[in-house]
Amino acid sequence: MKDVPNILWLEEIRKEDIASVGGKGASLGEMASIGLPVPPAFVVTAQAFRRFLIETGLEQKIFKVSENIDVEDNAVLEKAADTIKALVVKAKMPAAIKDDIRASYKKMAQKDLIVAVRSSATAEDLPDASFAGQQETYLNIKGETALLAAVQNCWASLYGARAIYYRAKQGFEEHTVNIAVVVQQLVHSEKAGVMFTSHPISGEPTTIIEGSWGLGEAVVSGSVSPDHYVFDQRTESIVEVTLANKNVEIIPDGSHGTKLVPVDPVRQDARVLPDGEISKLAMYGKIAENHYGVPQDVEWGIVAGTIYILQSRPITTIGKKEAKGMSGQGKDAKILLKGQGAAPGTASGKVVIIRDVKDTGAVKEGDILVTRMTNPDMVPAMKKVAAIVTDEGGMTCHAAIVSRELGTPAVVGTKTATQQLRNGQIVTVDGEMGLVYEGAITGAAPAKAGAAVPAAASSNAPIITATSVKVNVSIPEAAARAAATGADGVGLLRIEHLILGLNKTPGWFIANHKEEDFVKELYDGIKIVLDAFPGKTVWVRTLDAPTDEFRNMQGGESEPHEHNPMLGWRGIRRDLQSAEQFRLQVEAFKRLWKAGYEHLGVMFPMVSHPDQFIKAKEMMAGWGVDVENVTLGIMIEIPASAIMIEDFLQAGIKFASFGTNDLIQYTIAIDRNNENVADMYNPQHPAVLALIHSAIQKCREYDVECSICGQAGSDPRMAVWLVEHGITSISANIDAIAKIREAVAKTEKRIILEAARTRDAE
Ligand code: PEP
Ligand code: MG
Repeated sequence: MKDVPNILWLEEIRKEDIASVGGKGASLGEMASIGLPVPPAFVVTAQAFRRFLIETGLEQKIFKVSENIDVEDNAVLEKAADTIKALVVKAKMPAAIKDDIRASYKKMAQKDLIVAVRSSATAEDLPDASFAGQQETYLNIKGETALLAAVQNCWASLYGARAIYYRAKQGFEEHTVNIAVVVQQLVHSEKAGVMFTSHPISGEPTTIIEGSWGLGEAVVSGSVSPDHYVFDQRTESIVEVTLANKNVEIIPDGSHGTKLVPVDPVRQDARVLPDGEISKLAMYGKIAENHYGVPQDVEWGIVAGTIYILQSRPITTIGKKEAKGMSGQGKDAKILLKGQGAAPGTASGKVVIIRDVKDTGAVKEGDILVTRMTNPDMVPAMKKVAAIVTDEGGMTCHAAIVSRELGTPAVVGTKTATQQLRNGQIVTVDGEMGLVYEGAITGAAPAKAGAAVPAAASSNAPIITATSVKVNVSIPEAAARAAATGADGVGLLRIEHLILGLNKTPGWFIANHKEEDFVKELYDGIKIVLDAFPGKTVWVRTLDAPTDEFRNMQGGESEPHEHNPMLGWRGIRRDLQSAEQFRLQVEAFKRLWKAGYEHLGVMFPMVSHPDQFIKAKEMMAGWGVDVENVTLGIMIEIPASAIMIEDFLQAGIKFASFGTNDLIQYTIAIDRNNENVADMYNPQHPAVLALIHSAIQKCREYDVECSICGQAGSDPRMAVWLVEHGITSISANIDAIAKIREAVAKTEKRIILEAARTRDAE
C-alpha cells in the first residue's frame, strides 16, 4: 500500500491495478494503452482514500457507526448512511493528498480545465451498477476548490444506504472497502454518438455508427434521431449514410449539468460525420474489438476535429434473452411476488407504495413504484422510477402500456404488492418473468427512462418486409426511441397522454374556456411524433379514455361514475355526443394538415356501427375538413365492427386496425384489466381469430390497408398468423419491433418459397 502513490495517470495504469484505480480507472487505462484517443485523466487512488480515512481518524468513527446496524431497518440504515457521508464530506483532506490532486490538475492542461469526476469501484466483484452506490459522477467541475470537493463527495458516495445494504448482504468487510476517483478532462463534444464495432445481430464485420450534434447523451438516451452510417470492414468502405432530422441537442448548462436545446435549422438536416471521420472511428472500433476479442459498444465525441473515445464495452445485450433478465442470478433469491411480466428489463431499488395519486411527490428517481393500478396522472412519477409493480391489471393495462414505452421494467397483476411490500424495502423487479425478488440482486441494474431500444431494433437491421412493421406511441417522449426502431410509421398514437402534462380533463378546458390551451397541447404533442416520422404515416387516434382514468385530474369530479367504464362513455361514442371535445381535437388535426403534415391520419376508436363513422366524417366536414382527401380510418375493437366491416368499407374508411386489447375482451367477455381472469384472456381464441380473419379478407377485397395495433401484434406467434392470413401492416410496441420484423420476414419468405415449390410441382 505504501508503494502506491495518491495519483496514477492513465498512461501508468495496467489492468492489474484495479484494486488501486477501480474498474473505471482500469478500463480507461487499458483503452489508452492500446492507442485509443481517450481524454486525458488521472486517478485518485484507493490508497489515497485509505490514507485520508486513517489520517483524519475517520476509519474508526465510520466503523463505530456502521457496526452492527440492522440493514433491513430502513430508517436505521438511512440514518447511518447520512451520518457517515456527512463525516466524510466535512473532514479536512490531508495536505499531501490535496497537494497531489492540485498538482495533477495543474499538469493536466490549461488553467481551470473543466473535468468530470467519477467514482470507481475497486472490489472486482462489486458490480458497477448503482447497487454499489459507486456511480457518483460530477460533471462540469472547474477549479481546484470544486475539484477537491467533488473528490470528497465521490468518497462519501461509498456510504450510500444502498451501497451499505449491498455490501452487508454480500458479506463485505465494511472497513476494507475502498474507492478510487477518476478525474478526466470533460469533452464538450460538438458532435457525438455511439458505434457498434460489428453488426449487433448478425455479427458481420460492418461497423454501425450513430451520431448527432452536441453531447453523446442525446443519442444514448434516444432524445434525438441520429444520423446512421455503416462502414464495411471487409471492403473498408462506407456502405450506408442515412441522415436524420436532428432537431435537439444536449449541451453543457453553465457550470453544472446539461440542457436540451433546439438545434438551429441550418444544422438540423446537415450531415454530422464526413467520410474521413467515419473511417477513423471505424478504425478505432476495430482496434477495440481486436483487443477485447468481442464486438464493442463504443461511445465517442468530437471536438474541433479531434476524436475522443469515451467508453468501450462489450455488446452484451445483443441477441441474448438473458440480457433482459438477470442471467440466472436471481435463482437463489427469495421470490416475494408473482405477476405478469408487462415490460422487460430488471431493476432494483427502494419500494415506495402509492395509495393515492396525491402522494406521488414521495417518489424519487430510482425507486420502485408500487400501486394498485397506475393512472394517466401518475405518468410523471412513472418516468422517474426504476420499475413499476401493480396489484391489478394485465398486459394491456395502463401500467403495462406506459412502462413499455418508457422502457421501465414492470410487473402487473401481483394482486397483493401494496399489502405485502413495505415502504423502503429493497426489491428487485424482473419485468420479463413477472417476478419481484427480495433484496438487490447482482446483475440487475436500474433501468433509466428512455432506456435504449433493443439492439436488434436500434441497429436499423436491414430486414425489408412487404408487410409494414409500425410502432405504437403513447407519450411524445417516446417518439425518438420509437423512430430509432426504423419502424415504417406509427400505427397508433394514443393522444390521452398528450394532455397529461396539464393534469386536467378535456371537459375542464371547455368549462374554463381554455380551449386554445387544449388544442395547443395536442398540436405540440402530435407534432413531436410527426416530426420523428417524416414521410411515414402516423395514425392519430381520437380520445379514448374510460371515465375512471380521468377521475383524479382537475375536472375529474365531473366525470360520470359508471358501473363498467370499459363499456361506457368512451371513444367515438363520447366524441359524437360531446361535439366541442371532438371539435377541439379536429382543430388540432386541421392545423397540422395545414402546416403540411400530410402523413397524419385519424383513427376512430370504439366504433360499433358505420353510422358513427359517417357522422364523425360529417361533423369534420362541417368544421371545414376536406374529408375525402384526408386519411380517416377506424379501429376494429368491437365484434360488431369486425362483423360489419364491409359496411364500413362502403362508407369509405381508408384503413382499419384491430384493437385486440378490446376486441378480445368484448368477444370472450374477459375484462382485460382483471388479474383474476388474466389467464383466460386468450388472443388466439378461435372466435377472435375468426373475426380477424374475415375482416382481413374483406379489407383485401376492397384494397384497404388492414393493420393491428393491440398488444397481440407484439407477439411474434400472432405476427406469423397475421401475415399468413394477409394482414397489410402490424403495429407493435417499441421493444417488440425487432422480433416482429424478424417473424414477419421469415413468414413472408416461407410463403414465397412454398408458393414457388407448389408452382414447380405443378
Ligand atoms: C386496443 O384496444 O387494442 C387498443 C390498441 O386500444 P387501447 O389499448 O388504448 O384500448
Ligand atoms: Mg382499445
